[in-house]
Amino acid sequence: MFDRPLKILLVSAEVVPFAKTGGLADVAGSLPKALATVGNDNMGNDVRVAMPRYRQIEGAAYRMDFPVPFNSRYETAVIRESSIEAHYQDKHKTIPVYLVDNYHYFYRDRMYMFDDEAERFAFFCRAVLEMLPRLEWQPDIIHCNDWQSGPIPLFLKTHYLHNSFYNRIATVFTIHNLQYQGNFPKGTLQILGLGEEYFHPERLEFYDMVSFMKAGIVYADIVNTVSRTYAVEIQRPELGERMDGLLRKRSADLYGIVNGINYHEFNPRTDARLHRNYDQHCIENKKENKFALQRELGLPVRDVPAIGLISRLVDQKGLDLIAKIIDDLMEQNIQLMVLGSGESYYENLFQSIKARYPEKIGLYIGFNAILAQRIYAGADMFLMPSRFEPCGLGQLISLRYGTIPIVRFTGGLADTVSDYNPATGSGNGFGFKDYSETLLLNTINRALKLYKEKPEEWQRLVKNAMELDFSWARSGVEYLSLFQEAMSKHLSAQRIA
Ligand code: ADP
Repeated sequence: MFDRPLKILLVSAEVVPFAKTGGLADVAGSLPKALATVGNDNMGNDVRVAMPRYRQIEGAAYRMDFPVPFNSRYETAVIRESSIEAHYQDKHKTIPVYLVDNYHYFYRDRMYMFDDEAERFAFFCRAVLEMLPRLEWQPDIIHCNDWQSGPIPLFLKTHYLHNSFYNRIATVFTIHNLQYQGNFPKGTLQILGLGEEYFHPERLEFYDMVSFMKAGIVYADIVNTVSRTYAVEIQRPELGERMDGLLRKRSADLYGIVNGINYHEFNPRTDARLHRNYDQHCIENKKENKFALQRELGLPVRDVPAIGLISRLVDQKGLDLIAKIIDDLMEQNIQLMVLGSGESYYENLFQSIKARYPEKIGLYIGFNAILAQRIYAGADMFLMPSRFEPCGLGQLISLRYGTIPIVRFTGGLADTVSDYNPATGSGNGFGFKDYSETLLLNTINRALKLYKEKPEEWQRLVKNAMELDFSWARSGVEYLSLFQEAMSKHLSAQRIA
């Protein structure tokens, strides 16, 4: 199927290690490494990445600058270049990262949430496309991610449609979270350089706004999401965020590929952040991480079941269910270790719960990557009762660290966690379907019961979890076939046109 290496440009508003606010950055930082090193020819692919150059990104070398036709004028883009190193088995590749720089748009004290967001990211998208001929590099595929790069498929099918450099490039648009849509006032059409005729429900108009997410969904050759279940769920009104009708229309081109995690970075055997390293052959060492974590969080050092929670503190994560069962849960001899930041409502909620159960709840409000790893390693169970979850990385990291996930079966959680069956011993975690606090409590109790009553069976579950493969190697191969599919769809659409 892969008769030659592909040229792939991944475009994202955030990429690890340069800039991160959420899971998108993790994906954008690790998927290129997999794509660069997998493929049937054993050569890997020519993968490159484009993102804005925010103020905090240092050390990128000047590569070029050029005027970008934009918003009825020209605006200068400076391209700087950095790289990501990919190691996979015995292969090593350097992946170029192009950073689109413009003092006015990106030299600011944070990445998002400005009044001129439409202008900033429309400029970014236009600059990325203008850069390509100047690099003398014509990708087969541009892989766009979330609303910030939604205008790229749109521009290719409008401004660049009759330009022979661009018209062979196929596009894939991946939705990492449909809730964040990039919807802007009608005047944004002018910024995009498009006429009134694009303010139409078949094109960009979305509830009287211009939607960048919709631009990606309507104009990309293929629409993708980060799990199969989420791809199905967003076609229904409950999780469709008012785009379900549009997504149903594109259902023949709508896919879902579950994210992976970087198995080199997330490796309990070598992770320098841990108190004590371990693997599936010496699981008993995991317990020392629990004791160290208890000390770090000011909890009594005891061999009791420890439940971890690492999350953005927002409605999406099902935290109201936890609040409802907390008193019942705290009747048991357990500890809860919480790391998160987000909405002040939830931050205050966890502060007040912690004040009520100081001996049983460890709490850190804020973002802390080191503590996160210590919780993944030190906890016995990991809680993720999300209201919706496009993919979720927390459950994948926790499985890798032998920490058994307790999840609500939605989106990627449904695709990666399967319920433990006491009769057969199958499953890698515990879960429930309906969004209900009673079911959450029952599910946690099932896990606690197994932990307390059948320690050997629990050990087996932990060992199995650690032996699963949710690395990018697998999903990388799926992405490659998706790209091939996008290329053939693009080609046949061109033939018809
Ligand atoms: P989302 O992208 O919706 O936030 P994911 O589960 O896909 O959820 O990814 C969240 C990632 O961010 C995980 O790697 C998780 O460990 C990490 N994370 C979330 N909150 C924190 C925090 N407060 N401190 C450190 N890491 C965090």
